[in-house]
Amino acid sequence: MAERTIVTRGNPILNKVCRPVTEFNDKLHILLDDMRQTLTKNDGYGLAAPQVGILRRVVVLLDEEEQMVELVNPEITATSGSDVDYEGCLSVPNMYGLVERPTEASVRAQDRNGEYFEFTGHGTTARCICHELEHLDGHLFVEHTDRLITGEEMDRERQEKEEAEAQARKQQRAREQLHSKKKGKRRK
Ligand SMILES: [Zn+2]
Repeated sequence: MAERTIVTRGNPILNKVCRPVTEFNDKLHILLDDMRQTLTKNDGYGLAAPQVGILRRVVVLLDEEEQMVELVNPEITATSGSDVDYEGCLSVPNMYGLVERPTEASVRAQDRNGEYFEFTGHGTTARCICHELEHLDGHLFVEHTDRLITGEEMDRERQEKEEAEAQARKQQRAREQLHSKKKGKRRK
């Protein structure tokens, strides 16, 4: 197993349509093993073969239990729900943008031996399935967002949102207390 170099935005490889895998041989197994290692080393959720410079329809990603799933020739068969959240990509380092994705996504894919299976992801995993499969057709998440921010800006925005929500909860509690006090008075 070897960690491979991740191709970054601006490299035309990321805009090409990948070819299906037809041979489930050692070469594919080495690619999958290397992609697993590259994903783990870079602390990502998912990685598509073009991101390591290979134009084949191969993806590795983490499921909800953080287990690695290998998808060869994956096709989305169903999606449902919708959620807008920040999304990033190992090929677009330290940039994040708000992207709308389904909350549930099912795929039909082959494993490393060519056996077909179905896989359904929820939440972040559903987001990841959609993101990675787009890579196989030469698309990046930045096409879905008008505004890219850095990781630091995203953390700050999240913190401000949490603070605003905490403040709103505090005000709500204060209103409820006032209300129950008034009710108490009326009863006396
Ligand atoms: Zn990506």
